[in-house]
Amino acid sequence: MTDLPLPTVRPSAPPGADGPLVDTFGRIAKDLRVSVTDRCNLRCTYCMPAEGLPWLPKPDMLTDDEMVRLIALFVRLGVRQVRLTGGEPLLRRSLVSLIGRISELDPRPTIAMTTNGVGLERLAAPLKEAGLDRVNVSLDTIDREEFLSLTRRDRLADVEAGLKAAHDAGLTPVKVNAVTMRGVNDADVADLLAWCIERDYELRFIEQMPLDAGHEWQAATMVTAAEIRAELEQRYRLTPLDGRGSAPAERFLIDDGPHTVGIIASVSAPFCAACDRVRLTADGQLRNCLFANSESDLRTPLRAGATDDDLEGIIRGEMWRKARGHGIGSPDFHQPDRPMSAIGG
Ligand code: SAM
Ligand code: SF4
Repeated sequence: MTDLPLPTVRPSAPPGADGPLVDTFGRIAKDLRVSVTDRCNLRCTYCMPAEGLPWLPKPDMLTDDEMVRLIALFVRLGVRQVRLTGGEPLLRRSLVSLIGRISELDPRPTIAMTTNGVGLERLAAPLKEAGLDRVNVSLDTIDREEFLSLTRRDRLADVEAGLKAAHDAGLTPVKVNAVTMRGVNDADVADLLAWCIERDYELRFIEQMPLDAGHEWQAATMVTAAEIRAELEQRYRLTPLDGRGSAPAERFLIDDGPHTVGIIASVSAPFCAACDRVRLTADGQLRNCLFANSESDLRTPLRAGATDDDLEGIIRGEMWRKARGHGIGSPDFHQPDRPMSAIGG
């Protein structure tokens, strides 16, 4: 396993009241991922069990007012992109108005969303109108039987319609996220790429991570980024592009362009050194990493009348505890208790 170099000089001062949201490795949080619900209408095998999960009780969920107050605070602390996710974000009934309120913040953050696309056909245009800038739609296969076996639901046609609606509404570039599973869809990655190129969607493959509710992930069976690339190169010429920055995907020009494809080696070549993310769960818990084994409760103090300064102190403290990397593969790695759907991918 490789890792990017981290800054050698680590800040020694404890988190102060000023400046950006920094951790002890000098990384600055600019990208806030907000899970707006833990519920979902699909049951992807790498994420949820067939029977679903015990959903968060409604009173534990942040209201729109609470969510907007916290997002506004993060924007004041330097966050510049807010990505709404879940669970399935389109299941939050107030999503359109929530996005409208986020778009009124000053400075206005970029607003993105990760969705499974079911229901997007109806919502793409109102979401765009409300202020949504970008969308990532998760789609692992364009084969109906494979889709059914991966998501346990026969909804491929809805996702295809959702993608088209997003493109028509101008939520461009429309990105497609695909997780590759050995023996399920790994032989079809080039077909998925061809399908996306034809429709002007930007495809990114993601290595499967140990975030499944069943704790069944195994390093030995994970399809690696190198394997995905080799499979794509059976059909396409891939030329690596420079300028990755803090973006997790390594991007490649396909043949002579203009289309590109990304491959996110979250496990085999983690991008933790360049991570600029912080996460807020639907029940108001702050996580400094997908793989963090602890979180800071913002909801309880918020409801008890905490001031913005009080909340800022909690947020800075949580960032200060951010680990160097996720540590997947190390002997003391412990998969987080919360599954991906309750953290927000
Ligand atoms: N329901 C929405 C969706 O599927 O896009 C948003 C939430 S989902 C948890 C966010 C992203 O996480 C999706 O692209 C999904 O494919 C990805 N994901 C879920 N479980 C994963 C895992 N074990 N490894 C890698 N990616 C995963
Ligand atoms: Fe739902 Fe997204 Fe998890 Fe699939 S990956 S079960 S769509 S939350």
